[in-house]
Parts: sequence; C-alpha cells; structure tokens
Amino acid sequence: MRTSEGTNSTRDKPTRKVITFPNPTLRKKAKAIKTVNLEVRKIIGEMIETMYAAEPKGIGLAAIQVGIPMQIIVADIGEGPIALINPKMVSHKGKEADKEGCLSLPGIYAEVERWSWVKVVGLNKDGKKVEIEAEGLLARVLQHEIDHLNGILFIDRVKDWDTLEVVEGYPVPEELWKFIEAHATAGSTKSNG
Ligand SMILES: [Zn+2]
Repeated sequence: MRTSEGTNSTRDKPTRKVITFPNPTLRKKAKAIKTVNLEVRKIIGEMIETMYAAEPKGIGLAAIQVGIPMQIIVADIGEGPIALINPKMVSHKGKEADKEGCLSLPGIYAEVERWSWVKVVGLNKDGKKVEIEAEGLLARVLQHEIDHLNGILFIDRVKDWDTLEVVEGYPVPEELWKFIEAHATAGSTKSNG
C-alpha cells in the first residue's frame, strides 16, 4: 500500500521489481510458509527495501507484488519496519473509510472502507509467533496486504468510484480504466445521487 505523501532517500540496496495491474500473478493466492529460513529472511529484506525505494514511498508490500506467491507482508507507517509471515486477521472492530493506493496500481487512489481496529497473528522473521493489535493506518495497511495474499486488490473494495483520484503523469493502463468503468457503472448501491 502507499499514501500520496513521503519521499524516499537514495539507496543502494537490493530491491525487486514490483508487478502492476493487470499482471495475472496479482490474482494468485499466496502459499503459507512452512519454515522461516534464510531465503525467507532475504526476501523480507528485499521487500522492505523495495517498499522504501518506491516513489512515492510505499507503506506496505506483499510478496506476491514482487512475483513471489508466498504469505509474507511488510509494512512501515513511519514507526519502523514490520514483517509478518502467514498473517491472519483473527479479530476486528469498527469501520472507517479512507483513501488508499497501491504500488501495483500506480497513480490512482480511491476510498476504501476497512476495519478500524484489527488483531493479526502470524510469524516474525525469526519464526516466532506474534500478535499485532493495530488501529487506523496500520490496521488499514495490514488488511490491504493480507488481501493481496488472497489475490484481492483495493480496487475490488472501492464502493464509490467518485472518490477516485488520478495522479498526473502516471500512465493508467487501459485495463484499469475498463475495470473502473465497469465497476463505477455497476454501482447501483449509491444512495447519494
Ligand atoms: Zn497493494
């Protein structure tokens, strides 16, 4: 996930290429990881660097976005990096709508309703069980990234396409316009005119 704010610094660390919509890999289901080994830790490191190197800087990334169909997510909302393996949302509360963007859908933002508080369990990079209780932006990022592991993109959850924001200078692919048009016109649940 990304916000429209924040810049990255010049870095010289290994990163991976982020795949973008409509690459079919984004619709794949990621596999659970059995052993948290060196390779998994290496992928996590590269994912974090990839997230930081994005312009504007990403605040979350799922392994599937770099073409790896494994259940790994990373996030950093400005409080330091978090990595979660086999993450699962076990509890949630409240609802909140806010603008969302995605490194795999560059240049567009739209409002998505999410749980405002979540409890997520998973493994950390050392293979230890962890439990994260998050609210606000971190809760949103975690839900966005867990969605990726199930082949779900934030555009699937947009209810009101009137909230769409397109950043100047980003070439929005034809397929994405088609997706938006199809879903915007199908939005018969709108009640505010
Ligand atoms: Zn995303």
